[in-house]
Amino acid sequence: MEKEKKNILLIYTGGTIGMKVDQKTGALVPFNFNQIVSEVPELGKFGYDIDAISFDPLIDSSDVQPGFWLKLADAIERNYEKYNGFVILHGTDTMSYSASALSFMLDNLEKPVVFTGSQLPIGMLRTDGKENLISSIEIAAGTDEYGHAIVPEVCIYFDTMLYRGNRTTKYNAEYFRAFRSPNAPVLAQAGIHIKYNIENIRYPHEWGKRLCVNRNLCTDVAVLKIFPGISEKTIDAVMETENLKAVVMETFGSGNAPTSEWFISAIKRAIVRGIVVVNITQCLEGSVDMGAYATGVALRDAGVVSGADMTFEASVTKLFYLLGQNIDRRGVAAMMGESLKGEI
Ligand code: ASP
Repeated sequence: MEKEKKNILLIYTGGTIGMKVDQKTGALVPFNFNQIVSEVPELGKFGYDIDAISFDPLIDSSDVQPGFWLKLADAIERNYEKYNGFVILHGTDTMSYSASALSFMLDNLEKPVVFTGSQLPIGMLRTDGKENLISSIEIAAGTDEYGHAIVPEVCIYFDTMLYRGNRTTKYNAEYFRAFRSPNAPVLAQAGIHIKYNIENIRYPHEWGKRLCVNRNLCTDVAVLKIFPGISEKTIDAVMETENLKAVVMETFGSGNAPTSEWFISAIKRAIVRGIVVVNITQCLEGSVDMGAYATGVALRDAGVVSGADMTFEASVTKLFYLLGQNIDRRGVAAMMGESLKGEI
């Protein structure tokens, strides 16, 4: 029996993968999608129907804003029924933010949404873009014997590794292994075969539900990175940001911060005003445990919420999502501690 032909949608948003050197300035600027396709004639060998849409304008991902995530989510929703999977070509700088945001915005996702890009433009001889693109398409098209997607998640494929998007962080600006998923195993690794770690992939409890896009995002969030010598003035300045609803506080080790009276009072004052304060660690690996040291216990007693082992990118975008729903402060605080999309 002849297998049904797979349909894949490429969404090109910009990033290094599709850039070339501007002769005038010497800087990298985006070029159009047809040029990308002509750089990768291998795409024709797949035997899939691969369609593409290009964002206008194409952007360096440092220019990503929440409105861009809405545009992406809309493109996926509009085309959801027609395609088996989606590959998003995106700059690496904020790819982890976009993948995290999309994971919270897309409910009942049953198809792969694979973000990829490259460290070297696709037109360059030593580019990493070709392999990233080709394997991402293969992953986006992967189905099991029942026709269900093998990876029905928002993920990032980069340098032979498939990661859950909301577990990633960009950690290398030089080498091809640009991303890491410090606290969660990879979903697949590509070698001679693409080996899926099925036990680590999230599957719907029930297939066949309708995709639902959460469009309301609230960005009234600030970041407070603790360092030895931080002053009360700095903390107050952050906490007094207009319309502030939540703060991601980056602490030491397993969630520790100074125990000085003025520090704890400053945090408490903010919490009493209704601000949700989420504690994540400055360490790349490991988790917040506010019971481990007295310095953490003081924060917990003040009402700080544990962000456990969430990445910074997941914490910020999860707050955007939760604050955009009709949930009170307590609800937001409680849900920050729950794994909604495998981010904890
Ligand atoms: N600045 C680029 C971007 O994020 C870097 C890249 O794509 O690797 O759009």
